[in-house]
Amino acid sequence: MSILIVDDMEDQRLLLHKFLKDGEFTDILMADSAKKAFKILGLDEPAGLAHKIDLILMDLIMPEVDGIEACRRIRSVERFRDIPIIMVTVRDEVKSLKTALESGAVDYISKPVDKIELQARVRSGLRLKHEMDYRKSREHELEERNRMLESLSMLDALTGIGNRRYFDDFVNKEWKRSTRDSLPVSMIMLDIDHFKAFNDTYGHQRGDECLKQVARQLSDTLKRPGDFAARYGGEEFAVVLPNTDIKGAVFIAETLRSTIEALKITHAASDTAKWVTVSLGVGSLIPNRHSKPEQLIALADQALYDAKRKGRNRVETSTENL
Ligand code: GH3
Ligand code: MG
Ligand code: MG
Repeated sequence: MSILIVDDMEDQRLLLHKFLKDGEFTDILMADSAKKAFKILGLDEPAGLAHKIDLILMDLIMPEVDGIEACRRIRSVERFRDIPIIMVTVRDEVKSLKTALESGAVDYISKPVDKIELQARVRSGLRLKHEMDYRKSREHELEERNRMLESLSMLDALTGIGNRRYFDDFVNKEWKRSTRDSLPVSMIMLDIDHFKAFNDTYGHQRGDECLKQVARQLSDTLKRPGDFAARYGGEEFAVVLPNTDIKGAVFIAETLRSTIEALKITHAASDTAKWVTVSLGVGSLIPNRHSKPEQLIALADQALYDAKRKGRNRVETSTENL
């Protein structure tokens, strides 16, 4: 932890420095005026540029800006509120002590400074600072965790991609935008073929692994920043492709179908192939003021149903306007 000595008298600075060194304090900076101290602290600069100071030893009487004024200025900046400032005074300045403490100093030490006393006070000041830093970092950690929980409630716990809720939110937002701009929106519904048989043959855990692999393939395939994939439920996934017509969407769907098949996840119980395959339905619409996202979902669903009916491991489309 680093200590800043502020004193206009050189011999006093050097004495304090020596006493601190003797007490095994190593990171020590010195300033011969309050203004120099402000500079070292980075008082007038954005946070994070200056040297981090954990404790200040401040001489009370200094020309120009004195210790009390300096104390006030430092305390007026939010990020310096927690730095303990110890005022260094001569005995007959005791009257000023009240003012010093009011200006934000946490402690004081009298000149001539006693080495042991100085070391003890500095040590307890640093302990205080350490505790405050710890408390702040704990608070920060809690905030982080809350943020994570918030995002977790948007994500599917097993696969890490968006969940149904996130999907609904996303589609509704996208719908408004595409309606305004008269742009096509496409949707792909993807369902794993004979997944019940997969679970029955290899167990639920392997089933979960398979779902993760399929989800990863979705994330890897979707390249445009506006594209969005979610676990729609069970072994069914949904993809929204804003500003994409049916041709583009079929291309993505076919890529998904072939790359998932290429994973060659063994599925001996499948009637379709000896490995895991998926069926996909693609729907596409240019939304208008009267249409609803549900219509697009219904189109993709209908197409998926067709793909299952026609033998699975294939892409079918549905564009009819409902
Ligand atoms: P189809 O080819 O017609 O889609 O047949 P299917 O067996 O895939 O479809 P069905 O709807 O009959 O079965 C879906 C299976 O998906 C049943 C269920 O056990 C499994 N499943 C759903 N969610 C999970 C999950 O989170 N983990 C695992 N391991 N299995 C799941
Ligand atoms: Mg299925
Ligand atoms: Mg299903």
